[in-house]
Amino acid sequence: MAKNIQAIRGMNDYLPEETALWQRIEGILKQVLSGYGYSEIRLPIVEQTPLFKRAIGEVTDVVEKEMYTFEDRNGDSLTLRPEGTASCVRACDQNGLLHNQLQRLWYAGPMFRHERPQKGRLRQFHQIGVETFGMSGPDIDAELILLSARLWKELGISEALTLELNSIGSSESRATYRQALVDYLGQFKDQLDADSLRRLDSNPLRILDSKVPETQALLADAPVLNDYLDEQSKAHFDGLCARLDAAGLAYTLNPKLVRGLDYYGLTVFEWTTTALGAQGTVCAGGRYDGLVEQLGKPTPAVGFAMGLERLCLLLETLDALPEPAPLADVYIVATGEDCEVRALSIAEQLRDAQPGIKVLLNCGGGSFKSQFKKADKSGAVLAIVLGEDELAAGRVAVKPLRGDGEQQSVALEELANYIENALH
Ligand code: ATP
Ligand code: MG
Repeated sequence: MAKNIQAIRGMNDYLPEETALWQRIEGILKQVLSGYGYSEIRLPIVEQTPLFKRAIGEVTDVVEKEMYTFEDRNGDSLTLRPEGTASCVRACDQNGLLHNQLQRLWYAGPMFRHERPQKGRLRQFHQIGVETFGMSGPDIDAELILLSARLWKELGISEALTLELNSIGSSESRATYRQALVDYLGQFKDQLDADSLRRLDSNPLRILDSKVPETQALLADAPVLNDYLDEQSKAHFDGLCARLDAAGLAYTLNPKLVRGLDYYGLTVFEWTTTALGAQGTVCAGGRYDGLVEQLGKPTPAVGFAMGLERLCLLLETLDALPEPAPLADVYIVATGEDCEVRALSIAEQLRDAQPGIKVLLNCGGGSFKSQFKKADKSGAVLAIVLGEDELAAGRVAVKPLRGDGEQQSVALEELANYIENALH
């Protein structure tokens, strides 16, 4: 027999137990986002390859080695989105959302990167991304960072996360710094790791977050980006820090934080944890005024994205997973053909009477005992029990499954009311 076909490595199935948890987490995140006036935007999963090449940068890890790029039947080069910012900018520009408007947006969904799968690093992973357009001051940078901090607070994991903050300045100040860094590292070419040596020509700033200890040792005496910031970049960063200070949000200045995507300028930040080993960045973002200009019309922009798998791993590690919502409020137990037939219409009547109620109907028969086992497992608060004699008299039994209430006999025409009251 042919071997069963398996999912692609690094692309996970999320089973009902997990999706219940994800829904809870996403629910909390969405509530925070709506509390700051952010609206959802839904974007395609596939885009034209040049969008990502242009936006993320040809010499980034993502574009050089991580993209799922393929030719479609028309011969066009398409790419499964490795991140959401480029698509979001494309969509906003294409739909006229950047014309003299302020936008506060979020999106959620899968992203695709051909990386080596490991804990916290997948090939299909999920992000919630938040992007703002039209606002150039440090006030919106601060709002976004405070919003992200509130997400951790609502999830109960603030203690485990550190905010790392840096300014990588304007493109002019980065150009001056870049030269200084290349001049400095140029003296140690024979000591640089192969990746960094290659980057010395193509993208020297990325050397700053090299994971190679020898390279990091060389960087200890390297020129520091912050010393090269021009007045305007400095003022923006000071404005941001002052706002975070005023709001009482702690942060760590990390002068080596540069981010892996080419489109950032001025503010960059990451929320990191020591609880997840090498995959310690849960959320990352920054300002990308240059990107929008490159893809459409000049518009200031700042945003961030968080990895939901890493967030779940962190919640799990900290034993802070939220309780998933129970599957059912009410479980209907019935044996015998007549009762089973009536059970179906009683369930429908309950759903008519109380929109949003979760009614789980026992399907597939079974003894009372086995049905009650399922009722208990469903998390329902009440069981409605249909017995032949009682039903013939127009009544059912309602049995509390939690606590120590007594079973009651309830007339069918009273049932919906009774259940509604009992659940509140
Ligand atoms: P890393 O340095 O860990 O590779 P990155 O800088 O490539 O991360 P971003 O492009 O900034 O990551 O994406 C934002 C967030 O998305 C990350 O902080 C992380 O939480 C999550 N993320 C990125 N790549 C993956 C992946 N392959 N699997 C799971 N989550 C990921
Ligand atoms: Mg990466």
